[in-house]
Amino acid sequence: MHAVTHEIICELKGIQKSFDRGNGKPLRVLEDINLDIRANEVVALIGPSGCGKSTILRIFAGLISASKGKVYYHQQEMNGLTPGVAIVFQGFALYPWMTVEENVRTVLRAKGMAEDDVRTRANRAISLVGLEGFEEAYPRELSGGMKQRVGMARALSVDPEILFMDEPFSAVDALTAEGLRAEILDIWSDTATNPSSILMVSHDIKEVAYMADRIVVLSANPGRVRTIVENPLARPRDSRSPEFLRLVDQLHDIITSTELPDVEISAPEPSLLSDTVEPLPPAPSTDILGLLEFLEIQGGTCDLFQVVAHTHVAFEKVLASVKGAEMLDFVDTPKRMVVLTPLGQRFVRANMDQRKDIWKEQLLALRLFRIIGEMLEMHHGELKRHEVIAEIQQRLPMENPELTFETLVTWGRFGELFAYREDRGVLTPE
Ligand code: ADP
Ligand code: MG
Repeated sequence: MHAVTHEIICELKGIQKSFDRGNGKPLRVLEDINLDIRANEVVALIGPSGCGKSTILRIFAGLISASKGKVYYHQQEMNGLTPGVAIVFQGFALYPWMTVEENVRTVLRAKGMAEDDVRTRANRAISLVGLEGFEEAYPRELSGGMKQRVGMARALSVDPEILFMDEPFSAVDALTAEGLRAEILDIWSDTATNPSSILMVSHDIKEVAYMADRIVVLSANPGRVRTIVENPLARPRDSRSPEFLRLVDQLHDIITSTELPDVEISAPEPSLLSDTVEPLPPAPSTDILGLLEFLEIQGGTCDLFQVVAHTHVAFEKVLASVKGAEMLDFVDTPKRMVVLTPLGQRFVRANMDQRKDIWKEQLLALRLFRIIGEMLEMHHGELKRHEVIAEIQQRLPMENPELTFETLVTWGRFGELFAYREDRGVLTPE
């Protein structure tokens, strides 16, 4: 059993982070983040991709410094690496030329530990994550789940007070992930040993409902803490129980309301309107088409979570498609419903040529596409990728320009507005 204690292990106060992009306009990623990690708890960060979750983790760990604000570890202000922290990364980050054992030992040696200690600790960590018998194996001989176990063994080998995990299960299959989650909780719940606490990044609502005591919901651009949800469910949790499903539904609601704020935006002045460049959500045109076709089958309207449940597509991806469809005026999103507009209905019922025409017309209503069109004309029908990226950076300083470029290309291609030659890295009119 975990003793009830509120002792704070580490804390962020007033953290702000900007990244210098070399164009004189820094990218503001985090704004006034205040967050603490207490003894014996599991905290999860959840929020749209690019909202700064990994950046928060890195600042907590002292891998990068904040632009403003302070990091504390047991009330001591930190500069540089935070002691007591180990990270399991999203990929596996293993050395391919080293065996499992050597992958773990290297981390310990880097801490300056004596070779005897290195061996004992590596062995202990390897058995803790169930990799006994695989000490001599190379990463290429292991499944994704086993590679992630090596990553976990590496992090646990240093006996960290806090274990950080950045989307640790995103690269393993669902069944393996389920097993690993339970095992990590088993290791954590043994209060006689470290880690005392876990801070994890996730974009999977069920995962955070299963694992976390406190769920920190972040919003993007710049990343802020929207709300912190206390998980009331006793452990071990049954992800099929009605209480669990209710919590998942509640979390969905909270996240949706931060993502799709249901507010009336008063119509801007026409002159302003023509100047506003809206960010593009990371939704390829095919995803948006899929969403619209799904809605049509559902009779033109569907609860957002039902879309997620029926299509088995990650919530974040569905949300991006919904936002994209909304930008193109194909859907409306009253409350948490997604509803085809009359235009959206006309679009899905049309043949492919008509669809492309409608799509193109909608693209041309978006300022970004008009700007790119004008630039193409000025550059005699050929734009280099970096020229477009630079324009995106200038117009949408808060956005990830590469992702925006990718979306721009798939949308533009579908509307036959322009084509992108991957091999030459140039954008041309269709
Ligand atoms: P998340 O983990 O929530 O997906 P990240 O923390 O990785 O988000 O990134 C937040 C934002 O900061 C993104 O727009 C990303 O492109 C940007 N970013 C992250 N690291 C750097 C860096 N080293 N230099 C410039 N921009 C960065
Ligand atoms: Mg990340």
